[in-house]
Amino acid sequence: MDTTASTKMQMLGDGLGSTPNESPVFDGRIELPYTLTTGQAASVFLAELANHRIVGSRCPTCSDVVVPAQDFCAACGERLEDLLLVPAAGELTGFTETAEGVLGMIRLDGTSADFVHQLLDVELADLKVGQRVAARWADEAQGSVLDIVGFELDEAPAGNGETSPLSNPADPIVERPYRLRLDYKHSYGPYYGTLFDGIATSRRIQGSRCPRCECVLVPPREYCDVCFVRTGEWVDVANTGVIKAMSIIHLEFVGQVREPPYVYAEIVLDGAATRLIHTVGGIDVDEAIEKIRPGTAVRAVWKDGEPKGTLEDILYFEPIFED
Ligand SMILES: [Zn+2]
Ligand SMILES: [Zn+2]
Repeated sequence: MDTTASTKMQMLGDGLGSTPNESPVFDGRIELPYTLTTGQAASVFLAELANHRIVGSRCPTCSDVVVPAQDFCAACGERLEDLLLVPAAGELTGFTETAEGVLGMIRLDGTSADFVHQLLDVELADLKVGQRVAARWADEAQGSVLDIVGFELDEAPAGNGETSPLSNPADPIVERPYRLRLDYKHSYGPYYGTLFDGIATSRRIQGSRCPRCECVLVPPREYCDVCFVRTGEWVDVANTGVIKAMSIIHLEFVGQVREPPYVYAEIVLDGAATRLIHTVGGIDVDEAIEKIRPGTAVRAVWKDGEPKGTLEDILYFEPIFED
């Protein structure tokens, strides 16, 4: 990919009216691990999957039967206390194709609402509303809805659709470890792209200057935050700057790059008008608390080795104390 700083600069040079379409992209991921409290009815639904039993609940007021079992009726709000076993077969009421495969809306026999699950070994073009499907069970239960691997087309004729009261329910699964994960591609765009190119190729930090207030914005952006006019000129700023504010991070969080405690600061680089958020290092935390003030000068310490083209290529900013 030809995204060196010089080509970018050239592309951006003519008034920024013609911004390049080609921008570096990085793979991003948002990951959120947490513990899910399943709720009363769903805790039994999950536990009974290991016994190849599908548990629903019936509303005493409107008689609706829903799967998975719920604590309250979605139609009338009534508390649902009757748990039932429902047949592990039903018919298709709808289907769609996703990147992960074909999903079906399945009306299990004896129920009043659709259960969404994946359809196995099917071609979208061959599917019809009303086709019979039956659950395929996983070899080993994990206490998740995927204990039903999915539903497959079923030749057997429909049963009588009878539900039956749930007897001897399994020990409920009241908590589940959960990991919400979202993989995505993030395009830096021409502004951050140029900054990161400059860092990767020559450890150079660039900002964009506003033609009206003449502020140099770092990280660079296309519009001035204050004047709402397009920036247009690339400016190199120094590897040195001044701390405006700082904080000590003690909290641990997912995706953290550094081990706490560490010093986090808002830094205005010499030649820039805006604050860049980074870390302060080369000093221990207690000393930092004692010595660092708004106005303390700092310089960038670059990581050894091949730069990756991110702000993490700056290991930290180290304070410069005048004796
Ligand atoms: Zn109801
Ligand atoms: Zn401005």
